[in-house]
Amino acid sequence: MKYCIGIDIGGTKTECTVFSTTLDHTDLTPVHSKRFLTIKDSSYGVYLDQLHLELRPMLEKYPAMAVGVGVPGSLDYLRERMIAGGTKILINQPLRLDLATLLKLPVTLENDANCFALAEAYLGVGKKHAIEKNREPREFSSLGLILGTGLGGGLLLQGQLWRGSFNAAAEIGHSFLEQSLRDCYCKQNGCAELFLSGTGFEDQYEQINGARISAVKILKQAEAGDDIAQQAITQYRNRLAHFLANLNNILDLDYYVFGGGLSLAKPLLSGIEELVYPKLFSPASRPLFYGHSLGDSAGVYGAALCALQKTS
Ligand SMILES: [Zn+2]
Repeated sequence: MKYCIGIDIGGTKTECTVFSTTLDHTDLTPVHSKRFLTIKDSSYGVYLDQLHLELRPMLEKYPAMAVGVGVPGSLDYLRERMIAGGTKILINQPLRLDLATLLKLPVTLENDANCFALAEAYLGVGKKHAIEKNREPREFSSLGLILGTGLGGGLLLQGQLWRGSFNAAAEIGHSFLEQSLRDCYCKQNGCAELFLSGTGFEDQYEQINGARISAVKILKQAEAGDDIAQQAITQYRNRLAHFLANLNNILDLDYYVFGGGLSLAKPLLSGIEELVYPKLFSPASRPLFYGHSLGDSAGVYGAALCALQKTS
């Protein structure tokens, strides 16, 4: 049996999963998983020790051939470290090299949105999409969108991750959507993330109503017939449709996959193609829009896939 480990480092928790895999890596089966808190005010050294402590017994039981790590931020692939992102303890730290040295195994580092896009393309909705079309997952181009605290993206062109000429591709959350009341943390005004992330959705509701409630509550109130909550949903859907149409006019992809907390909210996303298609320049372009199928675990699947693709 061949084993591989995927690690998904999030802002609040870290998930480590051991997978058994087929020879061609078309299937990954989770055999053991462990989650622990990523303590934000910890130091890099303490975090690295903690990670090593969790991984050591796993590797004794399941001798993995490689380890893939997904991190929530932009990477400098040449220097093999995270250079921007919310989890400050990882910034500019040689995590890949340190883990490889400690574990004596090949380790890969990848952006978490890229891990999500890759996992869904090869093991999730993209796999089903390819079967339906009687083709291979690697023949399709897709974008994974994470609608969570922020708005992240991972782009695959004909099955290959497209990181960009300067490794800064698919930073979709920081492209301009419309003038915003406040600036984004990236110092620009009008970033899509300010409207389409979970926080952005709550902001928009607050602007109409004057009071702030959680995204879950907005959705519940809308279901109960609340006019303002329904207005916030309509506004969100219209903005998302404009955003997706802009993306597709540039990229012309086969499909899009939604991940992150808001992707579970059907009223925000179901039937979105009916709003997107009339905005597309070419009537020939008919991308599909899918909800994720690997759930919260897409990150660990994607991280493991990255490691397998690099080592095989
Ligand atoms: Zn921004």
